[in-house]
Amino acid sequence: MSAAAPVLGDVIMQATDVEKRFGRLQVLKGVSLDVRQKETVCIIGPSGSGKTTFIRCINHLEKIDGGRIEVNGHLIGYRERNGKLVEDTERSIARQRTQIGMVFQRFNLFPHMTALQNVTEAPIRVLGVNKKQAAEEAELLLTRVGLGDKCGTYPGKLSGGQQQRVAIARALAMKPALMLFDEPTSALDPEVIGEVLAVMEELAHEGMTMIVVTHEMGFAREAADRVVMMDDGQIIEVGPPQHFFEAPEHNRTKQFLSKIL
Ligand code: ADP
Ligand code: MG
Repeated sequence: MSAAAPVLGDVIMQATDVEKRFGRLQVLKGVSLDVRQKETVCIIGPSGSGKTTFIRCINHLEKIDGGRIEVNGHLIGYRERNGKLVEDTERSIARQRTQIGMVFQRFNLFPHMTALQNVTEAPIRVLGVNKKQAAEEAELLLTRVGLGDKCGTYPGKLSGGQQQRVAIARALAMKPALMLFDEPTSALDPEVIGEVLAVMEELAHEGMTMIVVTHEMGFAREAADRVVMMDDGQIIEVGPPQHFFEAPEHNRTKQFLSKIL
């Protein structure tokens, strides 16, 4: 762990016994995880183990079939009525999502908007920030991700790495309490992966609370407070990054690491 690692705060994300089925396929089999303020947790594990599904459940892009997820002490996607969980209204779910930034494998920028407009869109439309203030904040954010000179550029003229950094700035513009990343560098050309990881590493060191699905173990080593190994819909091992490099406990973890390292 970095010497500059921030002191961790209260629990920001609490998943308890989360279950998820797609038809008869049970994809999450009771996943529990607490993530504290300023903590960076990396999730690793084989393809199909449920990593993306778990991340998507955290901002209720997927409904859950059991358990509960709280962010900042508020139940996500549901409200409690007579001891039962009932799905929340769209409006209320949308409000909860504003606290959670999400960066996907594919950047999904609006192609007809400049980098700056991509970043100001949600703060203006969703939070009601005035245009001038949103533009000033967006410029600062784009500068922070190393793209201060690309504010007026359209996504089509940016490299994949630059587009992904715009996507990070766009998520940060909502001032989220929690950032979720799902394999943010796996669709990128190798030569631009480093610039995206560097931005994420800086965010982690600045104290952003982050859950990152990634197999970039160099990033995990530098930025993660804890690494979580998922296999077959369950968390099978959790520990600081060095634990995974030096002494993983489970055979599944050892096998998996031997393939990716
Ligand atoms: P990972 O991100 O670890 O590769 P996923 O969460 O994407 O794993 O997928 C876990 C399992 O759930 C896989 O078997 C996948 O095929 C299945 N799955 C994911 N999304 C859906 C869906 N929308 N409908 C049906 N099955 C799905
Ligand atoms: Mg996935």
